[in-house]
Amino acid sequence: MDIDVKEFSEECSCLKNHQIFVKDIMIEKDAINRLPELLQSEVYKKYQSLLIVCDDNTYEVAGRKVQKLIPNSKIVILPANGLHADNRGVELLLNKVPDETELLLAVGSGTIHDLTRYVAFTKTIPFISIPTAASVDGYVSTVAAMTWDGLKKTMTAVSPICVIADSNIFSKAPYRLTASGVSDLLGKYSALADWKIAHLLTGEYFCDRVYNLELVAVNKVCECVDDLKNGKIEAYEQLMYALLLSGLAMQMVGNSRPASGAEHHISHLWESEVLNDTLDALHGEKVSLGLIITSEVYHKVATCIHNGSVKVREYKSINIEEVKDAFTKNGLYEGIMKENESDVLTQVDATDLRSKLEMIANILDEIPSTLQIQHILTYAGCVTKMTEIGLSNNIISDTIRLSPYVRSRLTFMRIMKMLEFTEYDKVEVLGI
Ligand SMILES: [Zn+2]
Ligand SMILES: [Zn+2]
Repeated sequence: MDIDVKEFSEECSCLKNHQIFVKDIMIEKDAINRLPELLQSEVYKKYQSLLIVCDDNTYEVAGRKVQKLIPNSKIVILPANGLHADNRGVELLLNKVPDETELLLAVGSGTIHDLTRYVAFTKTIPFISIPTAASVDGYVSTVAAMTWDGLKKTMTAVSPICVIADSNIFSKAPYRLTASGVSDLLGKYSALADWKIAHLLTGEYFCDRVYNLELVAVNKVCECVDDLKNGKIEAYEQLMYALLLSGLAMQMVGNSRPASGAEHHISHLWESEVLNDTLDALHGEKVSLGLIITSEVYHKVATCIHNGSVKVREYKSINIEEVKDAFTKNGLYEGIMKENESDVLTQVDATDLRSKLEMIANILDEIPSTLQIQHILTYAGCVTKMTEIGLSNNIISDTIRLSPYVRSRLTFMRIMKMLEFTEYDKVEVLGI
């Protein structure tokens, strides 16, 4: 299946001329066999000096074959053990990219892609994506999720110019990776609600077409969960299609707004390790729990709004003491304060918020119930319990309180700092 990317880049009723940087997307069995022909085609034949980037795991599952298909290419095999999208990983790769390189081929999953896209950006070399697992929606992302000097950062990078997703390869990835991809997509439920609410309250840019594209992506995944577990290759292709759609939605907007809200902020908070130790968990696994917590909180607040027990209070400024007390690790407090230099919550007017509470509750009601979400996640074999990734239930309320600070992006979780609940209606999430 080839995705016609042109349909995403036309002019739009949101008045934005959506830009798509990726030119070709192929998702099918043996897709990588099309590489030699593709590289001879008009667009790609100008690139003579090619470099394949993989790690020792992805070399075995795909890198070796890619190298055979384009024998005049060079290859870098990074050590998979301890490899992360961080300064060290970038340095490792940068040192191995010959000056004459004209095109990079990222063969791997999230980390290999983030490293390659960052190096591609700094050296102004285009790259082709060959995903080895349907594990994240960031393959066609224009930004790289990196840890820089110990801080989690979203760095400017580039999108691949082409994606060759070979279902014979990515369907054989460890199931844990696939489940992580399912979770990452289901996280759109809360991300989309956050986007809609922010638009309602601040007039933040919003595009119906992009919103619907993300919804299509999530629904596609819910449809194929059954077949994924039965190992049906078509279901894997559908999951990859949905992940790439979500990535294209981000390209259309120019940032991750349609795909990342409160549930992702929870994941980022845990990655900053202020409430927990280092986690051995995949991106989607953290998003999975972030989504369950967010859904539970949002539905509880929606109920409180419907029964009239929520009060809105004026907002003055960020609670510096709260941030200082929590983010005590080296440089974190400074990083969080810098991120919040322009405090997104000051854009919300208390009177306006008061008058729109019902509308907000209706948006929150559109998120499937926590039970439904847990059911799909469980059925798809995704992480649904804190303890599965070594987290304690005790950190849930602090997670709800602190996660909105990690990004300067308006979410309903952040807006809740302007809401007051009666003791009876205290919104808390008990053990999950
Ligand atoms: Zn639009
Ligand atoms: Zn994600």
